[in-house]
Amino acid sequence: MSKVFCEKPFNHNYIHTNGKMRLCCTTIQDLPTDNNYNLFDANTHSIRDYWNSNRMKEIRRKMIAGDKIRDCERCYRQEEQGVQSLRSTGGMAEFIAKTEEDGTFNNPATTMQIQLGNICNLKCKMCSQMYSHMHGMETRDIGKQDPEWLHWVKEQGANVNNWTNELGVKQEWYKNIEFKSKMFEHISQNILHLNIIGGEPTLIPEFYELFEYCDKQGTLGDKTVTLVTNLTNTNSKLTTWLPKLKNWSIWASVDGVEARTEYIRYPSKWNKIIESLEFYRKLLGTNGNITLSPAIQLLNIDQLDDIIKWWLDWCGGELNKKYGFTWLATVWYPLICNPNIAPRDWRLRVAEKLSKYKFDQNYENIIKELKRDQHTPEKYKELQKSFVKYNDRQDKYRQCKTWRSLLPDLEKAIKV
Ligand code: SF4
Repeated sequence: MSKVFCEKPFNHNYIHTNGKMRLCCTTIQDLPTDNNYNLFDANTHSIRDYWNSNRMKEIRRKMIAGDKIRDCERCYRQEEQGVQSLRSTGGMAEFIAKTEEDGTFNNPATTMQIQLGNICNLKCKMCSQMYSHMHGMETRDIGKQDPEWLHWVKEQGANVNNWTNELGVKQEWYKNIEFKSKMFEHISQNILHLNIIGGEPTLIPEFYELFEYCDKQGTLGDKTVTLVTNLTNTNSKLTTWLPKLKNWSIWASVDGVEARTEYIRYPSKWNKIIESLEFYRKLLGTNGNITLSPAIQLLNIDQLDDIIKWWLDWCGGELNKKYGFTWLATVWYPLICNPNIAPRDWRLRVAEKLSKYKFDQNYENIIKELKRDQHTPEKYKELQKSFVKYNDRQDKYRQCKTWRSLLPDLEKAIKV
């Protein structure tokens, strides 16, 4: 099987929270326009504009030739670590056969992911302004009290927070009328698998407009829709549209049991999360699915077995067509969220606890990774110091439960 080929440049459209177009949600590279200077952007370009651009054609040519693509580095790295990546090679022969020599691919994509801006009501620990304007507002406000901390966060970049400027600015590219109407038409006519993420999509009026549009066009029945939601909000309109879809799946962003998810996905409330899960359970019918999608990270790795046990219990004992589990939200960046930055002794104790429970191969790989030293002692110290500085400052501002009270063993183990 090819180690570099991926279906995404042949069958997938992706629009990032800021309206930039990319290969998929894993990459951090925006696609450049043919002048190689500007970027494809929902405010000025259409999906059709980027699909056969010079860069897209070059990517396809390289993938077909077996060359690695800069945009796909994260997938390659995950796979080297034995962890599931988003890269998929199914349909490779057919995609290659339909690609012209210069990389042109004339069929439109049939799968799509849209990140409906950054409007979100939460400020999750692993998040940033990129996905939550509330997170950006908070970071800005802490910076007013503590300019040194804000300056440090900015300097640290991807180590502590996927930094973007314009803290607190709402990204609402989907409000561009021209782009929105073309996008709705494209989705209605071509897209069979649609993933919708935010921010928090259920807070965005255009999310409901899209369903309404496809319903009027009579195309809901062709579509499989995945909605990634933090479960803090539901809307009765979904009771009309979800049953009309071919299939639908809720990816439930829950990162721990009770107080732990409330801490990581601040300020969510456990009771509301359960209420929302029950809302979707009632709609399951024959076409629905609820999949737990925890953002596995340093702040919850010690609870990984408990999260899975809770989930299986909620599902009635086992995973099946209606209830799933995915590892795809596992957090690799920012680096201070990566469980491997913890002190060795603590990692080994957590690995021992987790080893007593059996789940699947990804679970085993995560345990294996916990045991493997990945940095120099100096780098470990630096990352642990950053973890403490970042989370202590945030917790103080929030006046919430702290990581120190929720993970006392980790607090004891970190000596910086
Ligand atoms: S290999 Fe990974 S990063 Fe590259 S397009 Fe596929 S899923 Fe995206």
